[in-house]
Amino acid sequence: MRGAAGARFLADGFLSVVWAPPCAACDALLEQPTRGAVCAACWQRVELIPPPLCTACGLPLPAAPAGVHAGDCAACGDRPSGAAPLARQRAAGWYRGALRSVIRAFKYQGRRSLAEPLAALMRDAGGPLLGAADLVVPVPLHPRRRWARGFNQARDLALRLGPPVADVLRRTRYTRPQTALAAARRRANVAGAFELSYRGAFRMRHAIAGRTVVVADDVLTTGATLDACARALRAAGARAVFGLTAARVAPRRRRRSPPPPRARAARRLPAPTPAAPPAAYSCP
Ligand SMILES: [Zn+2]
Ligand SMILES: [Zn+2]
Repeated sequence: MRGAAGARFLADGFLSVVWAPPCAACDALLEQPTRGAVCAACWQRVELIPPPLCTACGLPLPAAPAGVHAGDCAACGDRPSGAAPLARQRAAGWYRGALRSVIRAFKYQGRRSLAEPLAALMRDAGGPLLGAADLVVPVPLHPRRRWARGFNQARDLALRLGPPVADVLRRTRYTRPQTALAAARRRANVAGAFELSYRGAFRMRHAIAGRTVVVADDVLTTGATLDACARALRAAGARAVFGLTAARVAPRRRRRSPPPPRARAARRLPAPTPAAPPAAYSCP
């Protein structure tokens, strides 16, 4: 061990003894504080969304046979092409467990150094989207929430994704956090809540027209926020809009519908007794 590696080893030892910082996600003491605010074990526990994925919505598909293109899920395949405001969506991992803890530390504890490793997950998951993009647009915060939090987490992520970042959207009204609402009310909560910012309207409209844009955010819940942003960008002339987030809430599995009453009644009936043997075979 020499040079930088040796210096880091000494710094890690010194910091872990003198400062003893805890992991921002699991509170265990960091053995290597110079490597970031989250321990290696937490990063290993992040649940990435496994391929094959629907090319449109980015949800996992049942495994396709080798060499067969998986394509779209049933819901996206039934939709007319171009009907959805977001042409494609990708998220790096599921919003639960370690990744949820990392994002909450980033967002609510102001651990902005976590933007880089989270953006690295997004670059891996959204490579083709970013490769086709002319611009990245962060989901804006309302000024009141931006002031309270001190930063816009979506912008911190967007700045690390590669393509140029354009702050062209603004919120037209203060909206309640999507996580505080039932799924059915989330779409109404953000419907029409985004438009081109004043600065964007004058300086950036020409930059959006005909361009492919990636909208970036930390978490996708129902997709209502990204959809609302995409509608505003499409209305401003964007050719295509993609969505990219660090995490997404896993869709709930549909409950199996209960069996019809007749089937339930049949289940309670006693097993049929075997028919009596024909008389011809009866014992004498
Ligand atoms: Zn940890
Ligand atoms: Zn789909």
